[in-house]
Amino acid sequence: MPPSMMAVLVLLATGPVALAAEAERPVVLEPARVFDGVSAEAHAGWVVVVKGDRIDSAGPADKVKIPRDARTIKLPGMTLLPGLIDLHSHLLLHPYNEATWDDQVLKEPLALRVCRATNHAKSGLLAGFTMLRDLGTEGAGYADVGIKQAIDQGIVPGPRLVVTTRAIVATGSYAPRGFAPEVRVPQGAEEADGATLRRVVRDQIGRGADWIKVYADTWSPGKGGAATFSVDELKLIVATARSAGCPVCAHATTKEGMRRAALAGVATIEHGDEGDVEVFRLMAAKGIPLCPTLAASEAMSKYRGWRPGTDPEPKVLKSKRASFKEALEAGVLIANGSDVGVFAHGDQAREIELLIDYGMRPVAALRSATSIAAKVLRMDDKLGAIKPGLFADLVAVEGDPTRDVSVLRKVRLVMKGGIVYREPQAK
Ligand SMILES: [Zn+2]
Repeated sequence: MPPSMMAVLVLLATGPVALAAEAERPVVLEPARVFDGVSAEAHAGWVVVVKGDRIDSAGPADKVKIPRDARTIKLPGMTLLPGLIDLHSHLLLHPYNEATWDDQVLKEPLALRVCRATNHAKSGLLAGFTMLRDLGTEGAGYADVGIKQAIDQGIVPGPRLVVTTRAIVATGSYAPRGFAPEVRVPQGAEEADGATLRRVVRDQIGRGADWIKVYADTWSPGKGGAATFSVDELKLIVATARSAGCPVCAHATTKEGMRRAALAGVATIEHGDEGDVEVFRLMAAKGIPLCPTLAASEAMSKYRGWRPGTDPEPKVLKSKRASFKEALEAGVLIANGSDVGVFAHGDQAREIELLIDYGMRPVAALRSATSIAAKVLRMDDKLGAIKPGLFADLVAVEGDPTRDVSVLRKVRLVMKGGIVYREPQAK
């Protein structure tokens, strides 16, 4: 296909995209209000000026100097907020009611999974998520490293990515499982133990991992949950990664897995389903945030047949609700992480809705998905707030999400690094 046609296709595929020449012009965004990602309330009557890939200024319309050659995008009735951040995604997975996790790992060709992932990246971006921490390719090797490069080089539209490659599991603790012991089945993550952990951490970092993901526990049918790595093994992972400048996040659903991960000094704990006051206090004392993945728990219950609104809430969700409340009471920092991929890409806002449904105030939940998430990523000097000098990663939604979070579904403008991927149609 000739390149000119391809350009047209890209435009069709991504919606209105600022042309290269346009990108040089400053842009003035005029929403009804600005939620800056940090403040307790949205600021009515603010405007934001974007120059190149950065926010140049933000403030009350009469105080901000508007460049003469600027292009103005009017956003009447809308709230402008920082691009949303999801700290727990799987671009290489699609919902388990479309194909089981085992089938995705064992039967789907790598190229098929990568093609899907590019669609997933676009869906997330157009839903207002300009940054994802992608937590494991689940059998798709190092494909996340290449997808990140394709997005950064403008080959496919998508959020900024922080990637972890294969993730690390204790030998014999992961899946697919249930085969004859003589049969070796490729696993959804890389197995390692003891001293080999050092090599595997370095190998994954060498191949492009920005973070290391470790599974601190496992779950198997009949046996339930159980911790895997020892505290010493987890400490070795954390120390090896840290010396290379990489933080570690730990999958942990059991109390003991969470306790060991916290003692080892991981940077975040994922899921935390069986956490209680004691382990949440330990996390709070050590300043370890929780990514609760409420939306994935909800989706799994639906796949098992739960009909919301008709059936009573399943036991597993009731206990998730109770443990999340204990996390809040213990003062654990909550960072937005949904486990999207278990459910549909583009539906990431579900996690923020559930954070509020499970007890957070709307502004606190929005901070979890903006300034707090950026801090967890150690990127708060670049992302997660609307202030001069940060990347122009900006989203406008119809209405005011600090009062009604459901308007996160009404995304009208998406800008990443000053490039417009979606904007309101001129009437
Ligand atoms: Zn996950």
